[in-house]
Amino acid sequence: MVNLSKSKYCGLWQCPKIAWMRKYKPEELVIDEATQARMDAGNEVGDLAMGLFGDYVEVTAYNNDRIDLAQMIRNTKEEMAKGTPIICEASFDYNGLYCAVDILKKDGDGWTIYEVKSSTKDEKPIYHADVAYQKYVLEHCGVNVTGTYLVVLNNEYIFDGTLKLDELFKITDVSEEVANETGRIEYNLAIAEKILNNPEEPDIDLSPSCNDPYKCAFWNYCAKDVPSPSVFDLYRLAFKKKIEYYRKGLVAYEDLICEPKIKNEKQIRQMEYYLQDKGTYVDKEAIREFLDTLSYPLYFLDFETMMPVIPKYIGTKPYQQITFQYSLHYIEEEGGELKHKEFLAESGPDPRRSLAEQLCKDIPMNVCVTAYNKDFECSRIKELAEAFPDLSEHLLNIRDNILDLIVPFRGGYYYNKAMGGSFSIKSVLPAIFPDDPALDYHNLEGIHNGSEAMNIFPSIEFMEPEERERTRRNLLKYCELDTFAMVKVWEELIRVSK
Ligand code: SF4
Repeated sequence: MVNLSKSKYCGLWQCPKIAWMRKYKPEELVIDEATQARMDAGNEVGDLAMGLFGDYVEVTAYNNDRIDLAQMIRNTKEEMAKGTPIICEASFDYNGLYCAVDILKKDGDGWTIYEVKSSTKDEKPIYHADVAYQKYVLEHCGVNVTGTYLVVLNNEYIFDGTLKLDELFKITDVSEEVANETGRIEYNLAIAEKILNNPEEPDIDLSPSCNDPYKCAFWNYCAKDVPSPSVFDLYRLAFKKKIEYYRKGLVAYEDLICEPKIKNEKQIRQMEYYLQDKGTYVDKEAIREFLDTLSYPLYFLDFETMMPVIPKYIGTKPYQQITFQYSLHYIEEEGGELKHKEFLAESGPDPRRSLAEQLCKDIPMNVCVTAYNKDFECSRIKELAEAFPDLSEHLLNIRDNILDLIVPFRGGYYYNKAMGGSFSIKSVLPAIFPDDPALDYHNLEGIHNGSEAMNIFPSIEFMEPEERERTRRNLLKYCELDTFAMVKVWEELIRVSK
């Protein structure tokens, strides 16, 4: 037999090499901001869901700050023997196959398994594989499993001031899906045994699994021999398609440029500009046409948001984007002075009303506003207008007057090879101004991107005054650079259009 945990089994299910990497090269795991946020969300949701059926006993045990599996298994046996109706983190081991059930609920002379996910979707096959594995382990430990359920967040739940767990969570009976998966478990375990008992790295190449549903945490290791840039940097190409080219040996731009199936002019330009080390491509006329759509007074707007997994403000849903900050640069007339306004809410209370009021004071109606990739700002303003009908006329007027500064880049009117396949402001800015330290996000203190801003804002309310002040300063500096970057990009467009 092989030693396997639930997460290793699921890793194996996605790609057998994940389980091998977890065992033999765990130091290669890369936990980025987004992965960490997902893990934190999972813990927060898991803790809250424990109370879903009322009083419960959690059997988690530690030894010197490390999870004590043996003790957890002993605790579980004791609680089951006592007939405890709800046991959380109920732990089992069958010949080295280990699992902890999020919620184990007594059901007559049997027990039902509830697997909690922080997602709002319950139909992912990997979730069914996860529950099927748990059922397999429990049944082999002699437990009569009478039901298998997935517990996910209900994305239609609206918080009314009192958290109602039975409404916040959606419970789905996955018995059928689990039954379909059960037949594959022995086969998967046989593969696991073969792979995990062999210290030699399995010969498993990159595949669509590497990005399903997120980029695998071992990607940097597995893709270490892929040249840079490569097919994986190509603009707007589906990951599956990239893998198809990769498998045909069409990896480096030198190879891909000859591929007749690649007809997208932006992809071709991306490769040509890199291979021929060309300067900047400028379509003056298209840029001029775009600039003609802008008018004075001209505003440059950028929002920062957070996304509470568990809704904390009345009228909001799980994972709803909550705008808490904006930066606004503006120029009142041609040749006029560049001015700046900003808003940063207090961490803790609902920031939306005060932000919406200030936004309406700072941006008059019927002025030209720019955002970079405006769908995000437009959606947030629409949500604010829905939440505060008395401000909706002004808010929707701002939204309707927003123009998108990404257009010249996404439209291919301006390109240089340093942009690679990305037209985000974080790629475009250094590509245009590679040597300006004032425009380098790396030189900012503490906060360098939207994910960091999103993660840190909710924690400010728990900080000591000095740290709080420093973090607020960092947030203001970060957001200010976002709109200052937009101004610089706009100035560059004017320069090249002449
Ligand atoms: S990067 Fe791809 S091949 Fe490597 S472990 Fe992850 S899924 Fe498997």
